Amino acid sequence: MSGFILSIVIPVYNEEKQIGRNINVIHQVLLADGIDHEFILIDDGSKDNTWLALKKLAQELPCVNAIKLSRNFGKEAALCAGLSSVTGDACVVMDSDLQHPPEIIPQMVRLWRHEGYEVIDGIKSSRGKESLSYKLSSLLFYNILHKLSGFNLNGASDFKLLDAKVVEAWKALDERNTFFRGMSEWVGYKRKSIAFEVAERAEGVSKWSFVRLVKLAVTAITSFSSLPLQIVTFLGSLFLIGSFFLGIQTLYFKFKGIAVDGFTTVILLLLIIGSALMISLGIIGTYIAKIFDEVKARPRYLISEQIKRKGQIPNQNS
Ligand code: UDP
Ligand code: MG
Repeated sequence: MSGFILSIVIPVYNEEKQIGRNINVIHQVLLADGIDHEFILIDDGSKDNTWLALKKLAQELPCVNAIKLSRNFGKEAALCAGLSSVTGDACVVMDSDLQHPPEIIPQMVRLWRHEGYEVIDGIKSSRGKESLSYKLSSLLFYNILHKLSGFNLNGASDFKLLDAKVVEAWKALDERNTFFRGMSEWVGYKRKSIAFEVAERAEGVSKWSFVRLVKLAVTAITSFSSLPLQIVTFLGSLFLIGSFFLGIQTLYFKFKGIAVDGFTTVILLLLIIGSALMISLGIIGTYIAKIFDEVKARPRYLISEQIKRKGQIPNQNS
């Protein structure tokens, strides 16, 4: 008996082939270390038989809670669903494909229990097998986010241990567009990073499409910084200064009677100002869209079925 309960939150999407095996691997690691634990598995509207697999798992392992969302709401929403049912003294958030090595969990728990850290961040020491373009885009994204928001999330992952108090603080953040990685950094608290090697995916392929990653990047940037809006103002001021000098030059030429046709200048100016205007409108539009989402205040996810754990937390009476 470890004297505390660890909730393991795992979003699951189309993982019928591996979820049973993977949860058992994690379960064994925790048992071996004598850590009392419960699982909170969220089926994010899978199209395969993931829910059946979770039901089966809940029969085999009494410490399994499962939540089925009414459709695919995305990993961020699934994490929200999971975190809101955490009952343990701390929780670990991780992926279902064993890319976040469960062997690290006991180290995280030690840091939390014995050294008083309230958040343990899993940091990717290597990014595993990712394509060069993926690596470059994520590097670019994190650098932009760092410049804009001041939060350096380079190498950050969704593999984290959070103390119950941090989970409570996280729950109080009420926005619709969530970015777990950033929000759990924003809350602060005593934190420690722990490096891990991203393992290869146990089975299947990544569920993140390029479009989804871009959407997540936009959510992350818009919810952590309003600097892009100021860039619009900056751009406008730059053009104002430019137009002042160009205006003087044009008038000067006009009065001296040496005004040229200026066709190229006009076309170029039109094109440059046109695109600057459209991009600025786009930036403003993106923020308005996010405000619209927040104002609608729809639930982040809907639950269609739920299985509460039947049994005692493993190890508790051993
Ligand atoms: N996932 C989810 N909903 C989705 C996409 C993914 O819950 O819409 C889960 C998935 O089952 C896995 C985790 O999020 O547990 C990470 O997904 P994946 O391994 O596909 O992403 P990657 O490792 O490439 O970041
Ligand atoms: Mg993965």
